[in-house]
Amino acid sequence: MRSRSADLRAPAEGGPLAASRKRDRRYPNYILLLVALVLAAGCVTAVYRLTDDAAKVYRTRALVNDIESLVDRKNAALYEGAAKGTVDSDLQVEVEAIDVTLADRTAQLSAIDPGVMAHVQAPMDSFERRADETLSVLNEGRVGEALSTLEATEETYRQFGLQVREDTIALTLRAERAQRMIVLGSSVVLLMAAVVVGSLSWRIGFVHRRAEARAKYLAAHDALTGLPNRTRFVAAVEGALWRTSKEGGQVALLYLDLGNFKVVNDSLGHGIGDELLVAVGERLRRSLRPGDIAARLGGDEFAILLAGVASEDHARTIATRLNSALRPPFALTGHEIAVTASVGVAVAGDGSAEELIRDADASMYEAKRASRAETVLFKHTMNVRSVERLRLETQLNHGIAANELRLQYQPIVHLASGGIEGVEALVRWQHPRFGLLAPDAFLHIAEQSDSILTLGRWVLEAACRQMSLWSDPAFFHPPSFISVNISARELFSPSLINDVKQTLQLTGLAPHRLQLDIAETSAAFDIESAILQMTALGRIGVRLALDDFGTGSTGLGALKRFPVDTVKIARPFVECLGMRKDDGAIARAVIALADILGLGVIAEGVASEAQLQRLRVLGCGWGQGFFLVRPSTAADLHRLLRAGRLADGVEQHAISAPSADVAAPVDIFVPPTLPVQTANASG
Ligand code: C2E
Ligand code: CA
Repeated sequence: MRSRSADLRAPAEGGPLAASRKRDRRYPNYILLLVALVLAAGCVTAVYRLTDDAAKVYRTRALVNDIESLVDRKNAALYEGAAKGTVDSDLQVEVEAIDVTLADRTAQLSAIDPGVMAHVQAPMDSFERRADETLSVLNEGRVGEALSTLEATEETYRQFGLQVREDTIALTLRAERAQRMIVLGSSVVLLMAAVVVGSLSWRIGFVHRRAEARAKYLAAHDALTGLPNRTRFVAAVEGALWRTSKEGGQVALLYLDLGNFKVVNDSLGHGIGDELLVAVGERLRRSLRPGDIAARLGGDEFAILLAGVASEDHARTIATRLNSALRPPFALTGHEIAVTASVGVAVAGDGSAEELIRDADASMYEAKRASRAETVLFKHTMNVRSVERLRLETQLNHGIAANELRLQYQPIVHLASGGIEGVEALVRWQHPRFGLLAPDAFLHIAEQSDSILTLGRWVLEAACRQMSLWSDPAFFHPPSFISVNISARELFSPSLINDVKQTLQLTGLAPHRLQLDIAETSAAFDIESAILQMTALGRIGVRLALDDFGTGSTGLGALKRFPVDTVKIARPFVECLGMRKDDGAIARAVIALADILGLGVIAEGVASEAQLQRLRVLGCGWGQGFFLVRPSTAADLHRLLRAGRLADGVEQHAISAPSADVAAPVDIFVPPTLPVQTANASG
């Protein structure tokens, strides 16, 4: 466990800003509901008042009409009286019982002595006046006021025993009934409206809350895989570290990167790439223990937070288990894809999440670099390397453009005769500060970006040009072929076939003099597509070799499926030859099978006399290795190629360090702006 500057801050769950935003977002719901209620109340009042007023208007009209007719009748009587010379009135009160309500009034009206009618004449003025007042007030729309005037009028009207006509009463009653119906109806309508508004408001609130929850989810999760994203993951790691700093224990973090993911995107398209990421995320999720958290940090990089790990070994065991879970191929739409994963492991009891993630990332890069070691535990030195890596990343593209790449060549030797059968081109980077860098220092960086394609094209052209020059029998015993390594991304690149054709045309090299080395691990990535590409390459006439055979997952049986001419036995299976009795089993099996299939066999990394002897006994045709000839520059290979074979046969491997004073012949290919390299630097 490493000591770190303790950060005892409790992890912030969203923060105060987020909380206030949360509150703010709820306001519109309440406001909407309030507005709906006020509106409903307003409507009730308004409708009630309207209906009420309407009823009164009816009543008023009826009474006014009645008064008018009364006035007319009085005038008529006056005229009549004037004609007769009397001012009298025979106006009578005719009362009819209409209903119970009216019966009261009837009784009241009946009690009035018809004799008082003689006095009616005087109050008639007040009827007229009040009628006028009522009409004018009504005309101005002041209904309430008119009503009070009218009520007084009605009272007066009654006092003088004038007829309250049936239609007046009926109208009033009808208006009152209508008013009650309207109020009842509008109450129902308003109730329904309130229900609608209420449910609408609830629905809006629901939609809003759902949108809010969705936004919250998206802010914390990767949209493609549904796994937590970096922000969420960092918060979870902070939380776990905070707890362990208080309670003890430690937190382990795994950083996982998929090998060759870019190949899928390049060759099969982003749709399949996305499918692969989703499937990987799902498989990771299913392999986790309860309490562990898997997240996608971006691209093809995943991280896993392991809660409650007892030790570094424990973490490493889980990492290895996860790695194995990813090994079975993924069945995607129309493709079966095998992925390899490099896993970095970092363990800590305190410190910050970013530190822990950075450490796990650095160890993941080590795992990537060490290619065979797929799970690597963090060591302090790795951070220094990851800083270097970052620098290299930015410098590599510049380096390629500035012609800092170099090629070295390693002869491929016919084991029985010592003849130089071919040469393998191996790339180096002449770094302005770090000197000559071997591929394992920068190739994995190039493979992370499109630089590998640019680098690959450069190597192909430079190697073909060199082989073209060596092919001149006037100077050399030309090797049969030059072999060029093709990375996985190049293999699945749609432009590979054209690139190879054009380069052969440009350099004038015969196709059969070019061999393309395709690693078994690259081909195993998508066997069907690899076979298609290889078949297309074969049609051009170039030779094909299955490189590093034995390190991939295709198995011996797959050997016959690939349209290759040669198989290269990977170094680990050659290294163990001659050490123990059964260690040569794989080499022996490959050699035997290749013989049956009619394939050539090259043993890689022949590093000792014992290995060489054993290979010969097993019937291996060709080999390359430090024991035979180390990789060196074209200039340094000059003397050897003139001889065309190893000095004194293979038994006395004389050529491991060619002399540096060999003058560069004019016909050695020199890339533009490059000085001829004479220093011997091995990979
Ligand atoms: P490889 O294709 O397996 O190439 C053989 C590697 O084994 C070379 O390492 C070579 O120097 C090394 N080697 C040969 N004999 C011996 C031996 O006896 N003992 C030991 N320990 N090593 C031996 P190098 O040059 O560092 O290349 C490493 C890998 O980088 C290559 O492995 C190949 O996969 C890749 N590579 C090199 N050049 C290129 C290139 O131009 N393009 C691509 N895509 N990959 C390249
Ligand atoms: Ca090779």
